[in-house]
Amino acid sequence: MDYPVTPLAEIATKVAAARAAFAAGTTRPQAWRRETLERLRDLVTEREEQLLDALAADFGKPRFEAWTTELGYVTSDINHTLAHLSAWMQPDRVSTPLAFKPGSSHIVAEPVGVACVISPWNYPVQLLLAPMVAAIAAGNAVVGKPSELAPHSSAAVSSLIEAIGDPAVSVVQGGVAETSELLAQRFDHILYTGNSRVARIVMRAAAENLTPVTLELGGKSPAVVSRHANVNVAARRIAWGKFINAGQTCIAPDYVLVERPVHDELVAAIGKHISEFYGADPQASADYTRIVNEPHFHRLEKLLDSGKVAIGGTTDVDTRYIAPTVLTGVAVDDPVMGEEVFGPILPIIAVDSVAQAIEFIQQRAQDGDKPLALYTFSDSDAENEQVIAGTSSGGVCVNGTLLHFSNPNLPFGGIGESGMGSYHGKFGFDTFSHRRGVHERSTRIDPAMLYPPYTPKKQKMVRKGMTMLDPRDMGAKLRGALRGK
Ligand code: NAD
Repeated sequence: MDYPVTPLAEIATKVAAARAAFAAGTTRPQAWRRETLERLRDLVTEREEQLLDALAADFGKPRFEAWTTELGYVTSDINHTLAHLSAWMQPDRVSTPLAFKPGSSHIVAEPVGVACVISPWNYPVQLLLAPMVAAIAAGNAVVGKPSELAPHSSAAVSSLIEAIGDPAVSVVQGGVAETSELLAQRFDHILYTGNSRVARIVMRAAAENLTPVTLELGGKSPAVVSRHANVNVAARRIAWGKFINAGQTCIAPDYVLVERPVHDELVAAIGKHISEFYGADPQASADYTRIVNEPHFHRLEKLLDSGKVAIGGTTDVDTRYIAPTVLTGVAVDDPVMGEEVFGPILPIIAVDSVAQAIEFIQQRAQDGDKPLALYTFSDSDAENEQVIAGTSSGGVCVNGTLLHFSNPNLPFGGIGESGMGSYHGKFGFDTFSHRRGVHERSTRIDPAMLYPPYTPKKQKMVRKGMTMLDPRDMGAKLRGALRGK
């Protein structure tokens, strides 16, 4: 399709208009935040058909899947935000140490200014709008940039943003040239979602203006299946999390480490569930997504040479179809283990023990490759705890896949190569806010202890007063001691 691209000369103008709106105080009042979010929510509802058509045109996203993971997600995110916004905006009162009394202290969530949100193609509606919702909720002006790799979706979501008709909420469309021009502008926060190579470009550009960044990246997210797992349920949840959106999900289980005694049972159960989900011929299923473009298709096709194809393995370049595929007998140095799969190919590696799986994951983490998500399947709480305590990842889901992402009360973000910072719910509001500490002093009395001349008496009193535990700290210390920590 002819992809509408924002003329380079207009990009600085859009950012300047957003800055002017912020400087005029337009975006600060709660009323503006609410009205803008409500308008956005209404537009998502009104344009449902148009958005679902666009997602289907780009990579055959099934309509129900597209609604739940994109439109429904954004609607629910806005509803959650509107329900809590007033509370989030309240100043947080905090205690003031005895030595600094009389006085009081609180923290104000202040908008940072003009935010920039750059998003990828795989969930092109959700991953653009959800961070924008957080930026608006926090009282900022915001400029979004959808991915050129999902052109129909990008055009549809951009037209939706333009329909808000507010220069404080705008959109830039285009590819590398346009994003580079956007990054040449000064922002007060940048949230980038995508791969770690471009994340480094974004961070370098942000450094020029000391702009804080949130980087939502990807990586190889492991699933550990213990011999004590409910193997059938684990297989079903892994198959769902892996093959939704044809594996083009940042938190999809990338590979499975399964204890040897249940390896064959797990592979067979995944095969059974693939057939239940998509029928005997997934290519004929209306519920199975296509690969986004030919370069990604060919990249994925090469990964099929790793190990042995146990399930699936068929491809069709004309429709960019890759069957839900399971690879067994995969070696750690096979190509499929060398990069994030980001497609419907699931390598399964047998391990001798859960401890060995932990060691495998930690070995990769030593090189900075900490995963975005980690899945642990066991009916033993102690074993799941062992996996969580022995590893590091952006987030964790126990006996499930993907669903930790959808709980707005959990932060969503990576660590190391999988990213930095987080959003979702209050965490998104905080990401786009400056937590400003305010200490208010009374003028009724003005103790002279801190002022020169520093007499021996003052020195003695200040040394004692400053190092003495405040009654609240004393309480915390006692509670810690009672917990045995
Ligand atoms: P992409 O190619 O669509 O790129 C993302 C954005 O970067 C686009 O808006 C694009 O225009 C821009 N971009 C590309 N090259 C650029 C350059 N040279 N300079 C400036 N901007 C540039 O998407 P992608 O990166 O292929 O996305 C897939 C990756 O994103 C995977 O690694 C996946 O795991 C990760 N991801 C992470 C999350 C998350 O929430 N953590 C969500 C989805 C995807």
